[in-house]
Amino acid sequence: MHTGTDPDPAETTVEHVALLYALEAEAMPLVERLGLVEQPAVDPCMPQRHFSGRVGTLAIDLLINGRDPRCGTDRVGTDAATLAAFMAIRKLAPDLIINAGTAGGFEARGGSIGAIYVSVGNLLYHDRHIPIPGFELQARGAWPATPAPHLMHAIGAKPGIVTTGNSLNCTAEERAFFEHERVAAKDMEACAIAQVCAQCGVPFVAVKSITDLVDHPEAVQDAFLRNLRMASALLAERMEVAVRWLGAHPRRIAEL
Ligand code: SAH
Repeated sequence: MHTGTDPDPAETTVEHVALLYALEAEAMPLVERLGLVEQPAVDPCMPQRHFSGRVGTLAIDLLINGRDPRCGTDRVGTDAATLAAFMAIRKLAPDLIINAGTAGGFEARGGSIGAIYVSVGNLLYHDRHIPIPGFELQARGAWPATPAPHLMHAIGAKPGIVTTGNSLNCTAEERAFFEHERVAAKDMEACAIAQVCAQCGVPFVAVKSITDLVDHPEAVQDAFLRNLRMASALLAERMEVAVRWLGAHPRRIAEL
């Protein structure tokens, strides 16, 4: 159990996971596979949806950001993600947070539609520019992913650098950043969630399924819309394996 005062978080055992998703389309296939049950909203001010259940030794809370009440679209991006992470930690107190979702991939680094990545190294922001001395690190993010090589192996995923910004498409400057940092998956939430987790001492892993290829001539939004269902189904398949692996017995963070 995570107490927030553990001397060594690596020794925490994972008995309770919070799974954070931005899109309903990404999350519902797993809700159905695991038979998770919808709960009242975590907070009445937020349109989030909350599901919970248990697999073996693992208690599961799954949060979806919910819809913008003005236009009915899923709440994507770093502001909804930051809030969801903080609410999950404060109200649900999980031992581990996994941000699962879709992302843009890169052919140049062997990416393909439906490929699954587990975050390695630091999560970065690819669209923040604050050219004032001392602010570079804040702009860059560089919040750590908890190493999870065994979890990655258990679900047959690849290791990847994951970076986050608030747009679906990208600028030439961002493309240069992706090459320089050897980015495998770009999304709109992971680094924001990693930041909250690092500040609160909660281990964090991102699992990303590729819907579109950033360095491909087709517009990312066309590929995203065409592949969202398929990539989400593949994500749910792997996330079910991840949850069953975690629920087989309580594992220490250092054993992930
Ligand atoms: N119109 C879409 C909007 C989704 S925005 C809808 O059907 O709701 C894209 C979402 O998928 C974000 O949550 C983001 O994390 C992820 N994503 C997938 N491909 C991406 C890409 N190329 N760049 C950034 N985010 C991407």
